[in-house]
Amino acid sequence: MRTRFAPSPNGPLHLGHAYAALVAHDTAGASGGTFVLRIEDIDGERSRPEMVDESIDDLRWLGLDWDGPAVFQSTRLDSYAAAARRLKALDLLYPCTCTRAQIAAAAQSHGPDGPIYPGTCRHRDVDPANAAWRLDMAKAMALTGPLVWRDVEAGPQPATPQAFGDVVLVRKDLPASYHLAATLDDATDVVSLVTRGMDLFAASSVHRLLQALLDLPVPEWLHHPLLLEADGRKLAKRRGAPSLADRRRAGEDGKALADALRSGILPAGISLSQGLHHGP
Ligand code: GLU
Ligand code: ZN
Repeated sequence: MRTRFAPSPNGPLHLGHAYAALVAHDTAGASGGTFVLRIEDIDGERSRPEMVDESIDDLRWLGLDWDGPAVFQSTRLDSYAAAARRLKALDLLYPCTCTRAQIAAAAQSHGPDGPIYPGTCRHRDVDPANAAWRLDMAKAMALTGPLVWRDVEAGPQPATPQAFGDVVLVRKDLPASYHLAATLDDATDVVSLVTRGMDLFAASSVHRLLQALLDLPVPEWLHHPLLLEADGRKLAKRRGAPSLADRRRAGEDGKALADALRSGILPAGISLSQGLHHGP
């Protein structure tokens, strides 16, 4: 079995990342499996190279080790482009030039990722030169038929990717969106157990659909609880959650912090969301 931790290097890692990394690492360790570190650095605008080195130092400070060298999404752009060509050949993608503001103004409903795209460009003649490419969700689901995916704690889940509407798979500026890149990479990295936070539970339905469309192997999933602020919101650097690098530089013992998180001892004011999975 293989798990992975897949941080995006667009900011410092914080305690929530430490928890996620521990879940993936320890779950692999518990069954003699393999733990992969994947750096999700395709977002050139937001990714910062110095964050990659910092993150690697943070993980080592926590006492974590991974199998083989870290892998980088930025080296895999060709595989994303190839998958997009395949979906276009199936006539499942269409170009969209709508702005965020236009979508927000026209949206009738909200999905797990914000306003649901109202389909404005689906049957329009759009210049593909400067467009994002969206998945025609209804068409894709009709092609695959009903799908199921399995979370090891929550059990079998009927896939409901329609909750996201026509998701972007190819961004204007990049050959893949998160959904496409992460799904392809989990196949490339031969991940058999996708471990990540409960905040991405719904997204797994989209990934299951992409696996069916692209004939990719289907892993199992483990969605762990999230570390929450006192007000119940998810830890986020923008709200000043201390970074792991700050703690490391202040001389804190990273292995002791990792063990505390493992035993459910959390810093003051931080709690764990209700989740199906208890402890890394
Ligand atoms: N790179 C994503 C993040 O940092 C995680 C993706 C995943 O685990 O599927 O939120
Ligand atoms: Zn559009």
